[in-house]
Amino acid sequence: MTEISLLPGPVSLSASVRAALQQPPMYHRSAEFLSLFDAVRRQLCALAGGRDVALFPGSGTVANDVIAATLAATGVNRGLILNNGEFGKRLVGQAARFGLRPQVLTWNWGQPWDLQMIATALDDLPSGSWVWGVHYESSTGVLNDFSGLMGLARQRNVRVCIDVISSLGAEPLDLRDVFLASSTSGKALGSCSGIAMVFANPEEIVPLDQSCVPTSLDLAAAMLHAGPRFTFPSAPLHAMAAVLNEYAAQPRLRFESYTALGRYVRDELHRLGLPPLADERHASSTIATFSAPNGWDSNSFVELCRCAGFLIGGQSTYLSERRLVQIATMGAIRQQECEAFFQYLDRLLLSHPPGRVALSTVVPPPNEG
Ligand SMILES: *Cc1c(COP(=O)(O)O)cnc(C)c1O
Repeated sequence: MTEISLLPGPVSLSASVRAALQQPPMYHRSAEFLSLFDAVRRQLCALAGGRDVALFPGSGTVANDVIAATLAATGVNRGLILNNGEFGKRLVGQAARFGLRPQVLTWNWGQPWDLQMIATALDDLPSGSWVWGVHYESSTGVLNDFSGLMGLARQRNVRVCIDVISSLGAEPLDLRDVFLASSTSGKALGSCSGIAMVFANPEEIVPLDQSCVPTSLDLAAAMLHAGPRFTFPSAPLHAMAAVLNEYAAQPRLRFESYTALGRYVRDELHRLGLPPLADERHASSTIATFSAPNGWDSNSFVELCRCAGFLIGGQSTYLSERRLVQIATMGAIRQQECEAFFQYLDRLLLSHPPGRVALSTVVPPPNEG
């Protein structure tokens, strides 16, 4: 049975991305590699409105470490971090490791940023300080008001750092005026994981004193370098080039289909009495988080779905300890695959009405299937 992946990563890959992954490894100093690397950087900037982008081997967390290291290199330790979910919380920890001492604004899971609170906090910061937050909070499915934040920061001359890890590729972005933005190849862009990226304006980054930044996280050096500074895997680069060609061919279509599919998923969850954690007014298109039905814990529910051929999120501790599960619609996933999942959920909930579930009879043993 081929499983249908509704995970936020690895995501379903299109045929052209799969084909790209079959190419033989390429030497990272070859002329061919350099031109592919350069083309990917230019296409990413075209897609996201960024001035320039540096690529690093690694996952999204690496890109956020680059942001923390670069903020430390500005010499401005004070700033503001916005935390309304797991990924906002992680930024706080990553900042602390580079000696940053920001104020942290925290909201409950499922709540969006409160711009009024942010404005008040920014008013207390000196001009030239920074604010750092997550655009799509993947743990809750909340879409935060990035353009509202940009407006507040512009009025106060505050630098904005933004994690667009699960929004890049899902909707049009304009990263031209951000100080730093982080993303990754393996989420909404619909490629395989392995490449971390940081968007920035080289004119703002190159003058910073990078002497205390770890070599592998040096953003200025990475942006100035033709090709990668160190060994770089070619498979995820080929895959990303394939994805970016799909975007270049039909950008609106990709964004619109993400939006339509996200709305379909949320409508179906409402119909089944499983409302998403994020209110519809600030729900993201790519991830819907909801409580596991009928008293199942996250792991049992994920396991039931897996046995029926559907991979959904819920095994991360930050979800399971809250009895949450999630469906992501990233990459080459189509509505008909989601329809199959909801038909399965229909049957499951019909045979196990609320309150009548006996865990021992419905949870399959761990090694079944
Ligand atoms: C997944 C994710 C991360 C972490 O990325 P990894 O690739 O797991 O290192 C950070 N921020 C957001 C919003 C994410 O969705």
